[in-house]
Amino acid sequence: MPEFELIERIQARADTRSDVVLGIGDDAAVLQVPAGKQLVVAMDTLNADVHFPAGTAAQDIGWKALAVNLSDLAAMAAQPAWCTLSLSLPQADLAWLDAFLDGFLALAAHHGVALVGGDTTRGPLSVCVTVHGLVDAGQALRRDGATPGDDLWVSGTLGDAAAALAQWREGVGIDVALKARLDRPVPRVSLALALAGVAHSCIDVSDGLLADAGHLCARSGVGAEIALAGLPASDALRVLFDEEARRVLQATGGDDYELCFSAPVQARAMIERAAASSDTSVTRIGRIVAGKGVRALLDDGTQWRPSHSGYVHF
Ligand code: ADP
Ligand code: MG
Repeated sequence: MPEFELIERIQARADTRSDVVLGIGDDAAVLQVPAGKQLVVAMDTLNADVHFPAGTAAQDIGWKALAVNLSDLAAMAAQPAWCTLSLSLPQADLAWLDAFLDGFLALAAHHGVALVGGDTTRGPLSVCVTVHGLVDAGQALRRDGATPGDDLWVSGTLGDAAAALAQWREGVGIDVALKARLDRPVPRVSLALALAGVAHSCIDVSDGLLADAGHLCARSGVGAEIALAGLPASDALRVLFDEEARRVLQATGGDDYELCFSAPVQARAMIERAAASSDTSVTRIGRIVAGKGVRALLDDGTQWRPSHSGYVHF
């Protein structure tokens, strides 16, 4: 099957929007950026056996490939608008493509994102997505705004996806709720939009809380203290893992796609309202301090030192 049949199928199924001047079908897309807005761009690749177990359902790969990208836009408090998709496939399999698009386009439709172009090649299964979002000029939420005295917050619960991966590696049955967190992460877009102008800094947690909080602190030139006992855990995680295993998963496991953000103490009520209005839970997990580095504290106030703080790619 020639590649254009695959592209035709993608084009037939993809929604467009009125600000897409030219979408799939030309050499490049033409997009109308509204006056006063800045374009926010992010890209993330998912490789089989690195970012998802080979054998993951095509629908879930499609969902996750877009979700992890929307999570990056959320971390900037950008409103998602457009995306492009580079697909490397071992063979031209229309049934696989359709299942992939079921997941990908369902999430795209939910956020009003138009697929406006891409590339289709043969090779080991790999999915690379670029997302484009919009912010009012100067209003992007960045990693470098954390200030000593800020509260440190995290959305949702931590460690669930890493727990599912741990169960998969052990070959034990994977808990259904945990598996959903691994395969179908929910980008925290509406919470992020509500945090714009309220939070001082933000990062999405993809490589593990301590690692990503460390990135935020490094960019801001500050340190942080995190109380491990206060990290939010799902019911499934509480039931299935003991305290130390939970701590490792929550503090260092990857693939959470939650937002970790700092905000002034006076903003607590506003943040609770942002959480309620976006139907997303938030938890205060610590505070920003002068200095550098993230200190993860046990109940007795001593510092916990994990063997590693997050996922390392190389
Ligand atoms: P070119 O050879 O000029 O790069 P292609 O044949 O690769 O063009 O692509 C033709 C059109 O189809 C382009 O508009 C491109 O953006 C789009 N396209 C190709 N692959 C994909 C894909 N995986 N998803 C969305 N659009 C795609
Ligand atoms: Mg061309």
